Amino acid sequence: MRDAARRLAERDIRPVLERHDRDRPLPKDVFLDLFARVARLGLLAPRLPEAAGGSGIGMLDYGIMFEQIPPAISMSLLSQDGCIARIYAEGTPEQRERLLPDLVAGRKIGCTGSTEPDAGSDPRAIRTRVRREGDTLVLNGTKMWITNVSLCDIMIVTCVDAVRGNSRDCIVKVVVERDQSPFESRQIDAIGLRQGLLGEAVFENCRVPVRNLIDSPEGGTKVLKTTWLVNRALVGLQAVHLAQKALDAALEYAGVRKQFGKVIAAHQLVQKNLSDIATAVEASRLLCYRALSIIDQGRPAEGATAMAKRFAQMACQEALWQAMNVFGAMGLAREARIEELYRDVRMLAIPDGTNEILALIHGRELTGIEAFRGVAQTA
Ligand SMILES: Cc1cc2nc3c(=O)[nH]c(=O)nc-3n(C[C@H](O)[C@H](O)[C@H](O)COP(=O)(O)OP(=O)(O)OC[C@H]3O[C@@H](n4cnc5c(N)ncnc54)[C@H](O)[C@@H]3O)c2cc1C
Repeated sequence: MRDAARRLAERDIRPVLERHDRDRPLPKDVFLDLFARVARLGLLAPRLPEAAGGSGIGMLDYGIMFEQIPPAISMSLLSQDGCIARIYAEGTPEQRERLLPDLVAGRKIGCTGSTEPDAGSDPRAIRTRVRREGDTLVLNGTKMWITNVSLCDIMIVTCVDAVRGNSRDCIVKVVVERDQSPFESRQIDAIGLRQGLLGEAVFENCRVPVRNLIDSPEGGTKVLKTTWLVNRALVGLQAVHLAQKALDAALEYAGVRKQFGKVIAAHQLVQKNLSDIATAVEASRLLCYRALSIIDQGRPAEGATAMAKRFAQMACQEALWQAMNVFGAMGLAREARIEELYRDVRMLAIPDGTNEILALIHGRELTGIEAFRGVAQTA
């Protein structure tokens, strides 16, 4: 499975990334083509059972394959998968039948929008509102930092139900199909993952048929919780992908670059640097695999996934810093392509729980005390 995913990455994805501008998001037709290829390998809807068009593989197996895909693309796969999982877990049979086939086959791009300019780590601060006018839902608000949104066809928007009020219980989700309910969006110019899709969407009286309301708060909760937990380990594996590339490049460079009459790999401190990088990669990988394995076993995985993502992001970021040092000044040059990996790994500290929030999630499991809001979780 690992080899099949690696072949897909090396043969079908990497050359496409190389052919396009490194600083701009890939065009939509290119994304759709890559999605269709990924779908053929069963990686677009890994969590859906085969009967529902997915591949139904275990999450550890999925993680091992996912790790091979370049993060500018795999971040989009996560967003697509989040959209698919949400419709599958919480949607009505009619919504599943109507919306899932195009997403699962990679014919349409999906995303999920929760974050807003004033609502990030605290999802209870969401202000995007939906109100009902007969058979139509009317959306108003702004979503920000949403993967895939600039080119998406389908977006699941988390909103406050204006009919029922503004408390946590009144959060609902609406599927916005862009061809019938157009909205404005723009790409956000960020430090890394620059060929990927990250953007903002503005809803101004956006009208959506009422049949697109997702309104089953209970039914899908367990599936969705697992989805978030898996995502943390997967983002950790994106960091591993980047640091592994840096390790490979640093080993090669250290074997040919000569200073003081010998290759720099023969200097003891360079060997220590390489050892540190390799240790960070391996430890991060194993923590992420372990977290996914715990999920596969159906055991509680809040702490394990939080620990894995936070450790992997921090350790791999440090590893990339060290890899840049192995390259000396060349590590700073764009042509060496190491600084690009460093900018990409920096992006991973934020989605699916910032490092601070993940520390609090892990700390809550260790202590039984909820530090977010200072309320004891256990008696
Ligand atoms: C690459 C990328 C992809 C993303 N994709 C999506 C997506 O597809 N859909 C989506 O909805 N969102 C997405 N996001 C948004 C992401 O989920 C949010 O950015 C994240 O939740 C943090 O919110 P924020 O940026 O507003 O930071 P804030 O919540 O404002 O946090 C700012 C700082 O305060 C710290 N902080 C906040 N609260 C606490 C606390 N209680 N204790 C200690 N420290 C705290 C944070 O750790 C951080 O350092 C993505 C972001 C990125 C970078």
